[in-house]
Amino acid sequence: MSTENNNSTVYENSIKILSDLISFKTISGQDNNELINYCDGILKKLGATSFKTFDNDKKRVNLFATLKAKKNNDKLPIILSGHTDVVPVSKGWSTDPFKAEIKGDKLYGRGACDMKGFIACTLAYANIFSNSNLDRDIHFSFTFDEETACIGAPILIKELVKRNIKNGICIVGEPTNMKIIDAHKGCYEYTTYFEGLAGHSSAPHKGVSAVEYAAKYVNKLIELRLKLKERTPKESIFDPPHSTLQVGGIFGGIAHNVIADKCYVNWETRPVVKEDGIFLNNELDKYANEELLPEMKKIYPNSSIKKKIIGEIISFNRVNNSKACEFVSSITGDNSREVVSFGTEAGLFQEIGISTAVCGPGSIEQAHKIDEFIKLDELKKCINFLEGVKNKSINN
Ligand SMILES: [Zn+2]
Repeated sequence: MSTENNNSTVYENSIKILSDLISFKTISGQDNNELINYCDGILKKLGATSFKTFDNDKKRVNLFATLKAKKNNDKLPIILSGHTDVVPVSKGWSTDPFKAEIKGDKLYGRGACDMKGFIACTLAYANIFSNSNLDRDIHFSFTFDEETACIGAPILIKELVKRNIKNGICIVGEPTNMKIIDAHKGCYEYTTYFEGLAGHSSAPHKGVSAVEYAAKYVNKLIELRLKLKERTPKESIFDPPHSTLQVGGIFGGIAHNVIADKCYVNWETRPVVKEDGIFLNNELDKYANEELLPEMKKIYPNSSIKKKIIGEIISFNRVNNSKACEFVSSITGDNSREVVSFGTEAGLFQEIGISTAVCGPGSIEQAHKIDEFIKLDELKKCINFLEGVKNKSINN
């Protein structure tokens, strides 16, 4: 069969698979076993081996599947990586968000572009991979709960290190219109809880106001924000060029005349370099533990300040002569490199030594929105890209 016919079969198949994937309601935090078993089933039928990693109660699962090289040529393995969760839907969709619908040149459904479209293309193309004379391993990495704070991927990465899969080229197929993204800031989210002692407002010295200590803490955050600005790296590629910090909310207290015993602060930071994240946390923890907490405990020994990590999506750093970027460029012919403001799992792969590029079908413009869609043309572009991957993974 000609390549063109091959690709049109793959395309038809990718639409069918994408429709199936959209029908699994894999909103972040929810059970994604069914979807993973579906993907595993397709790949196993084609001769792939696989393993799963789970969260504590096995409700959510990552899949890592491999189509082995027929004859290994010492080429770096390829990892095709995507997250299986989607963001929740709000009211106002003109179609059922969990039922794929094609209208004109677009396919609608939650996750169509972010990022079940990419996963569908890889699964549809797996058939061709498996029938090719592969001279390197092709891996499929499908994770859970990326959208919340990259909760699933670190569990998978740990297992990869254990299995000594620490080398390779990883393509994270987030929607970039098939452009290469080679860097983004980190995204760290925290909630800090304050517990003091309630009391009557007429005797403030007998209580410990959690709200007031939280306010001091927020002041410290704002002070440290200026320090982050002073630490702007010389040749930062980001906009703004420095690490940012934001307080998203302060919640506490019950009445005008009651000393608040509980308060919490939601805040986040987007470090341009890992060191900024470390610096910020060190300074802040020192302030909380060495200044605020002793003051609180003087009046009420059971007072506490607890910082909870909601998620720490590490930054994805630009690398000169990135193997992954060069690999993608050699297929697409596009040598441009861009940075983005959204977080991905790319930094996690990069951290263990796997060369990584973010490149996938669809646009981030449609992600997380009502009436999310992917242009059918983008799926075709992705399939053509996968054909390039195959051509670079066979004995010639
Ligand atoms: Zn995504």
